[in-house]
Amino acid sequence: MRFKWLKKRFTFMVIPDANSHVVRFRLSGWALSLMTLSVVLLASLAVTFYIIQSRSLGTNQLLENKLVGVTEQFEQTVTEKNTTIEQLQNDLVRLSQQADQVKDKIEELKKLESEMKSLTGMNGDKPVSISSASPGSSSSSHMGGGYTPATDSDIRGLIEDTEHHFDDLDKEIDGLFGTLSETKKQVEEMQQLLAITPNIWPVDSRNVSSGFGVRIDPFNYSPSFHNGIDIAGRTNDPVFVTADGTVTATGYDKSEGNHIVVDHGNGLHTHYMHLNEILVKKGDKVKKGEQIGKVGSTGRSTGPHLHYGVLKNGAVIDPRPYLKASRKDEP
Ligand SMILES: [Zn+2]
Repeated sequence: MRFKWLKKRFTFMVIPDANSHVVRFRLSGWALSLMTLSVVLLASLAVTFYIIQSRSLGTNQLLENKLVGVTEQFEQTVTEKNTTIEQLQNDLVRLSQQADQVKDKIEELKKLESEMKSLTGMNGDKPVSISSASPGSSSSSHMGGGYTPATDSDIRGLIEDTEHHFDDLDKEIDGLFGTLSETKKQVEEMQQLLAITPNIWPVDSRNVSSGFGVRIDPFNYSPSFHNGIDIAGRTNDPVFVTADGTVTATGYDKSEGNHIVVDHGNGLHTHYMHLNEILVKKGDKVKKGEQIGKVGSTGRSTGPHLHYGVLKNGAVIDPRPYLKASRKDEP
């Protein structure tokens, strides 16, 4: 029979050492084969388990490696983003400082405009001072102190402040444009007015030999009205026109001698008399300070001098109070 040995019995002997008892046990063929089968089965199970375990371990390792890679990449991205944020924050701080600098410059411009106004004597409105002098506004480069990193809320505050600063600057600049062009217009008007206002001395001499008003006549020694001022000088000293204008008359008569009349517009005329020589003719456009003649003693005169007269709307006025500027000082 094929399975004959299954019915047989097998004896196993265990001999520990020479002095100990021999242990014997008997097993039937069935039991033996069952045991063998169990051992084989257990071994297979162990092998299968080992294979599964090691495969799973491999997968885990792979996943772990992947995770490490992804984490590293993520960390790198975060680092890059942080660097970018830091750069942006630095840019923001610089931008905010620039806003402050521009603000300072606008303030200077306003002062300059105000000075310009006061120079031309139109000191109407004082410049509006920018109220808040921001901490960064002093342009000193000497700085110090401990380092405390700016918080997110600091940065948000700075962004808002900077936005407001730039909004304010925009308005300030617009306002300044308006006032500056207004000032420019006023300065131009002032210049124009100044150009046609007879306010310079008509000769270099300051020796007023006879004033405006009632005086004793130098020829008949009785009271008379002197309708201008006499400035004593030397023959052929240059005579300058005291404002921009047009020559309306030149000529000679017994009383005025060689004389010139200049129309300055706005109802103003100036008269230059007793000239030794006339250098302009009727219709000439003349510029303030330009030489129009030479000092002489022609006509009713006792010696070389210039009779200078000013008419306002046809009436003679005292020219003296207007003779404020020297020809070289002011236009
Ligand atoms: Zn006179």
